[in-house]
Amino acid sequence: MAYHYDHILIRYGELSLKGKNRNTFIKQLYQNVRKALSGFPNLEYEKQHDRMYIYLHGENADKVSDVLSCVFGISSFSLAVKVESDMDKIIQAAKDSVDLTTFHTFKVAARRSDKMFPFISDQINRKVATEILKNSDWKVDVHHPDVKIVVEVHKEATYIMTNRIAGAGGYPVGVGGKAMVLLSGGIDSPVASYLMMKRGVHIEAIHFAAPPYTSQNAQEKVLKLASMISGYQGEILVHVVPFTNLQLAIYQHADESYAITLMRRMMMRIASGLAQKRHAQAIATGESVGQVASQTLESMQTINAVTNMPILRPVVCMDKVEIIDLARKIGTYETSILPYEDCCTIFDPKNPATKPRIDRCEKYEARWDWQSMVQDCIDQCEEIVVRPEVEQEDLF
Ligand code: ATP
Ligand code: MG
Repeated sequence: MAYHYDHILIRYGELSLKGKNRNTFIKQLYQNVRKALSGFPNLEYEKQHDRMYIYLHGENADKVSDVLSCVFGISSFSLAVKVESDMDKIIQAAKDSVDLTTFHTFKVAARRSDKMFPFISDQINRKVATEILKNSDWKVDVHHPDVKIVVEVHKEATYIMTNRIAGAGGYPVGVGGKAMVLLSGGIDSPVASYLMMKRGVHIEAIHFAAPPYTSQNAQEKVLKLASMISGYQGEILVHVVPFTNLQLAIYQHADESYAITLMRRMMMRIASGLAQKRHAQAIATGESVGQVASQTLESMQTINAVTNMPILRPVVCMDKVEIIDLARKIGTYETSILPYEDCCTIFDPKNPATKPRIDRCEKYEARWDWQSMVQDCIDQCEEIVVRPEVEQEDLF
């Protein structure tokens, strides 16, 4: 429970390593933080070279923290109080910043960057600790405290912080360009989307729907998944591609064992067209080596051959259990395993080629005018913007 916190101190993530790009990163992070917290109108922001401060002005610290923990580019943050650099005020504020009605072990860690301050760090530690011990059942534990109270004495002010809260890590979304993620209703592609955003890449999603073979429920599920991960960048634009005609044509003109490969080649052509249209620099998928027949290296080579655009596969070397762990962490797993049919599972060939050859694909593709069908898919897709679902309690 947050006590008398008046601001939050944000520590930047990996961007501290990036010499020249630093300012771009800080600017993007600042924008992203403000956008994510736009539902809290009283907040006031201050960005500095190595830290950012958010002054709460009465907004709920716990709710702000929840939102903040999903913003990439933050390594950690702490709820803090800013007071005058005066010993009595420091003691009072430190006492008020923790909940003394509960029991905890604690440690005070003071740092004095203002060497004119009349007490040395050790004296500050003792004075603050004594006051807390006098007013509670708390006990000191210098090695493994439940709560660490950090007191930073500067000339202009003193900052008092309790525990660090882990940030989402990664880079601020937007500094890494844009990618189109192929989003199915499965477990892997939402995780791949999350990992792309974590690297600072803004994503748009592409979903291939094959009505009436795939149901409205299947599409709703994909939009729900997109909404669940949209909080990491604010909103996600989802392109729903009408894929039925092209898929039927594949089955009409090619051997069944090549259907999946041809379908993926068409998906990549459409994704490349959409990427161009939307000024994205890459395509991303949830493929992982060896997971299914169509995800062998030979197969990836044959699929990649239709485009010059980089195809990124963030979960390519992860075990299924590792992917599932991440899916649980970001909250998409339970939705992903709902049993709605995907366009890939509808036309599931019995013996898909595990080493599909490019020349054979080209032979099949020469049998019909797929180019105009691909163009139709690009031109006729539906664009839907999804945002995080608003929690019930916030509606009232
Ligand atoms: P996922 O769990 O992400 O569905 P998967 O293990 O089920 O992956 P496949 O169904 O073979 O694997 O799909 C591999 C990748 O191809 C998916 O991760 C996704 O990026 C893309 N993909 C498959 N089907 C679709 C679809 N209907 N719409 C958009 N992308 C798709
Ligand atoms: Mg799938």
